[in-house]
Amino acid sequence: MTQKEGTRPLVAGHIDALKPYVPGKPISELRRELGIENIIKLASNENPLGPSPAAVEAMRAVAGEAHIYPDAAAFAFREAVSRKDGVPLDRIGVGNGSNELLTLLVRTFCQPGDTGVVCQYSFIAYRIIMQAAGLKWSEAPVGPGYAMDVDAILEAVTDTTRVVFVANPNNPTGTYMPHTEVARLARTLPEEIILIVDEAYDDYVRAEGHQSALALTDVRERLVVTRTFSKVYGMGGARAGYMIAPAEMIGYVNRTREPFNVNAMAQAGAAAALFDEDFIGRSVSVNEESRALLEDGLKGLNEEHGGITWIPSETNFLLVETSRDGAALNDAMLRRGVIVRPMRGYGLPEALRISLGTPAEIERCVKALGESLAEYDGGKR
Ligand SMILES: *Cc1c(COP(=O)(O)O)cnc(C)c1O
Repeated sequence: MTQKEGTRPLVAGHIDALKPYVPGKPISELRRELGIENIIKLASNENPLGPSPAAVEAMRAVAGEAHIYPDAAAFAFREAVSRKDGVPLDRIGVGNGSNELLTLLVRTFCQPGDTGVVCQYSFIAYRIIMQAAGLKWSEAPVGPGYAMDVDAILEAVTDTTRVVFVANPNNPTGTYMPHTEVARLARTLPEEIILIVDEAYDDYVRAEGHQSALALTDVRERLVVTRTFSKVYGMGGARAGYMIAPAEMIGYVNRTREPFNVNAMAQAGAAAALFDEDFIGRSVSVNEESRALLEDGLKGLNEEHGGITWIPSETNFLLVETSRDGAALNDAMLRRGVIVRPMRGYGLPEALRISLGTPAEIERCVKALGESLAEYDGGKR
């Protein structure tokens, strides 16, 4: 940034160096840009079935009371979490999406000079949040198959480490750290460090022996588990998330958060969504169906065009390696009305992350990807 000598810069260096989070392209934006209709978005890991119907009903029911401030203690929401997860109320904190909770945790517990540890190719929000707070961090390299590596995480820890972020399963790779490994990390990390396990995709995990990190609260005091309503519950637009942490930590976050951080509609919708078992079950089974369909489609595309691989996923998306320029393929997909997520920002310039939409959407996506590959390869000749 240029500035006159002697004047004070508008922002600190770490803010100036921040790159904004790049969200999935909204359908309305692509429609404006290309003037095409019939666009599908498989870019933000949203639930293709829409929101939980129970949540919609609960949100409608409170919309008429929108002139009243929400419950600052979010009692009904936290009470629902307490019943669902079997944890006491004073260990539950709620946020305007789980992203806000991650921000609050860093703001509340990290001081200047503290540092963080993240896994290579992990959710970019962790780094944005730390950089915004002026924190530095180190990256624990992943192992073969992009597997998150507990030994690498432990090796990345130093005297200044204050917080360790693990997304399990991880976004954007879809990889899963087995519970025994999460347990080993929880046991081995020095006790003053806060271990945050982000379980945004927990409901989708089908791995044998899977357990939430919530089972590890006896093993480790400073453990925070975060959950979101943006994925299986289909409420990304409503903004709600929660965390389970020691009561003392929840108490401190209650001092730093805004009193009305979760709006009344989101509170009511989230509480209802937690017990919409039918919807959760349907969402997970459609996800399984779509994953099998996409894997099949990718297999076919690989036979036809070559160079297509993907990482086995325990989530509602697949990270697809294309052996080609991901940005160019993404453009070709956009022109066909299919929005996926290019991964250059994650250091994976040849990869596309594809959310598991409905089976019909997946069929359309595979067709568009096939055409895009043909177009790309044709252009190269
Ligand atoms: C989608 C996602 C979230 C959800 O964030 P919200 O703020 O709750 O919408 C959190 N963590 C990971 C790893 C995600 O992929």
